[in-house]
Amino acid sequence: MSSIAPAPPLIAAKQVVIENLIKQYGTLRALGGVSLAVNTGEWVALMGPSGSGKTTLINILGGLDTLTSGHVVVDGVDLSKLSESQMVRYRAEKVGFVFQQFHLVPYLTALENVMLAQYFHSVTDETQAEEALQRVGLGERLTHLPAQLSGGEQQRVAIARALINQPKIILADEPTGNLDEANETMVIQIFRELHNAGHTILMVTHDPDIARQADRRIELAHGHLHFDTAQHGPGHPLACPLADTRDCCTPISTDDEIRFDHLLEQIWTCGEEGKPAQAERLHATGPSGRLPVVTDEPAARVLSRMSDLRLVEMQNGEVQLTLMGSQRARDVVRRHRLAERLFKDTFSIDDSEAHTQACKFEHIISPELDQRICTFLGHPKTCPHGNPIPPGECCNGKSKG
Ligand code: ADP
Ligand code: MG
Repeated sequence: MSSIAPAPPLIAAKQVVIENLIKQYGTLRALGGVSLAVNTGEWVALMGPSGSGKTTLINILGGLDTLTSGHVVVDGVDLSKLSESQMVRYRAEKVGFVFQQFHLVPYLTALENVMLAQYFHSVTDETQAEEALQRVGLGERLTHLPAQLSGGEQQRVAIARALINQPKIILADEPTGNLDEANETMVIQIFRELHNAGHTILMVTHDPDIARQADRRIELAHGHLHFDTAQHGPGHPLACPLADTRDCCTPISTDDEIRFDHLLEQIWTCGEEGKPAQAERLHATGPSGRLPVVTDEPAARVLSRMSDLRLVEMQNGEVQLTLMGSQRARDVVRRHRLAERLFKDTFSIDDSEAHTQACKFEHIISPELDQRICTFLGHPKTCPHGNPIPPGECCNGKSKG
């Protein structure tokens, strides 16, 4: 590629560098200022809803589409600076494409399809093309036409074709989108081997299981980078509602744990009363003194955090406990009501004071202490206000009225 001037060394250090990439189709902005860098040998899963700009990004990287503004540098080549003929060379030499629709030439055999890519690159080499097909397990299918091959086999021909010219980067747009499970597994296995051999892979996929196998997951939303595990950590859940907020990937504070408990109790109580738990009605802090945390927090923030942690699910403004959330809510309600009983019955503390103290106590009672209090009180079934105390492990058949 002597005709293509190399980019300055600083930018060339990464395999792919994208800076403030904007792609405009008429008035529609498909990419609204995307910046990211990909290391050599990295396997990146590109995710995001339909229309979020994944294909646009892949096509620009592959030189199939032009960018409106910004910079895209692949292996040191600044794509915005290429002429038409330089772009043709770039496509043939630097990138290997794998599409959802396999895009094989129907009247050429598997072998000829691979050799066609060699032809566009430089010279054809039948032995090499044969070896490429053997690598993807198609040594016995060399002379088959695409129509005589299964979907999975056609996609493997397409992978052999993509690899034949030793591309710097493999671009795959939903490569398993048209495959059944068995073929999907086989194709992903090939990508895993390519990754192990050091290839750089950018793959669009909707499948979280496939995405998890990649080194890194990047999610687009409305043409913007929504989140990136390289920034947010590998354990970060997909589509995290907290991405780019101050809570994202920060450890949960004790104050928040208390707020969670407090909201879980409210949701639990709604359930007991047979009422829907409307998000707008829930409060992360109670009236002054009810909750032992000082700063006031909007419930919406706390609820989105709880949803991220799979304690609750939200639908149309209604909050529902998950199995995990329900278990935790039950435990905290039990501790609260047991504490109320203890304060009222044993220490003769008046109602409102017992409630206030119980609000504080419920967060600090260990499971062991919880059982000891319960046993000490004779496994009561209700709190002083007549609300049920969910039974604990200690309660088997021992409850008194
Ligand atoms: P994805 O692959 O994430 O589903 P695309 O990159 O295909 O999304 O599309 C992003 C947006 O750009 C969509 O709104 C789509 O309709 C629009 N778009 C894509 N290609 C073109 C085009 N050639 N002309 C006009 N609009 C386009
Ligand atoms: Mg697409």
